[in-house]
Amino acid sequence: MEPKIIIHGGFFSESSGTEEIKKAKQKALTGIIEKAHQYLLSHSAIESVAYAVSLLEDCDLFNAGIGSQIQSDGKIRLSASLMDGERQTFSGVINIEEVKNPVYVAQKLLDFEDKVLSGAEAQDFARKMGFGYFNPETRQRKEEYIQKLEESVRKGTVGCVAIDREGRLAAATSTGGKGFEMPGRVSDSATVAGNFANGHAAVSCTGVGEDIVNVALAAKIVTRVTDGLPLRDACERSMSELKAIDGFAGVIGISASGEVYHTDSHPYMVWACFDQKPDVFPISRTGKMWLQTFIGD
Ligand code: ASP
Repeated sequence: MEPKIIIHGGFFSESSGTEEIKKAKQKALTGIIEKAHQYLLSHSAIESVAYAVSLLEDCDLFNAGIGSQIQSDGKIRLSASLMDGERQTFSGVINIEEVKNPVYVAQKLLDFEDKVLSGAEAQDFARKMGFGYFNPETRQRKEEYIQKLEESVRKGTVGCVAIDREGRLAAATSTGGKGFEMPGRVSDSATVAGNFANGHAAVSCTGVGEDIVNVALAAKIVTRVTDGLPLRDACERSMSELKAIDGFAGVIGISASGEVYHTDSHPYMVWACFDQKPDVFPISRTGKMWLQTFIGD
């Protein structure tokens, strides 16, 4: 199987920045997808999606890890999840604070019986596992927070799906939330609505978490592929259900046959894919055109 990997930098990315920020995001995604693809050549899909998402979490331009937005009470809370398609096992952390890479905490939980932890207990678990204290708040985030007190600004969650040499599939998603939300709100990103994989497909979502949960987007797409629909049709049918409730979301997906797909309800998403041809995917809308052309090639 030819290893393939696709990442996203969130649904609200394009609409929320200047041309300069957009270009910086595209450049960052290109660098990260190259590294992640290189990593995938010698690692499993589940290791690779965790690695790719950790790189996205380490990039200040996206709303995850160190780029996470401040919530309405002035705190930063992180949610992240992974799903190993081979083992059909989901793990995640919800609203964890003061860790650098929540996706790695979620990855640790794959080996425990209790696989999704929230809040202070998730943080205790992280400390026991050796994850150090990290405060993701920067001056820039603080300034944005003050700006958000007046207007809503959104940045974009991150995610990755991959298929490795052995044909194993995995998905990972990480977020700082939707921005300025009520403390305690649970994002879709650490639920099966936002992040799902099995032996047939892997999907990561971004957008309005409530909309994504209302249509169980990732789990539904994967189920449709499992029942025999091509990934593209599964995505489009599920997206039409999302649009019927006036929902906002974007998805990336890979199927066991190597089909790679991206779609969104509105043109607000940045993403990148590494495939054999061409070497590095162009990002964003032009990338979408190419991706669609490539499917079935
Ligand atoms: N889905 C995330 C949430 O609602 C936000 C995003 O994807 O940007 O928390």
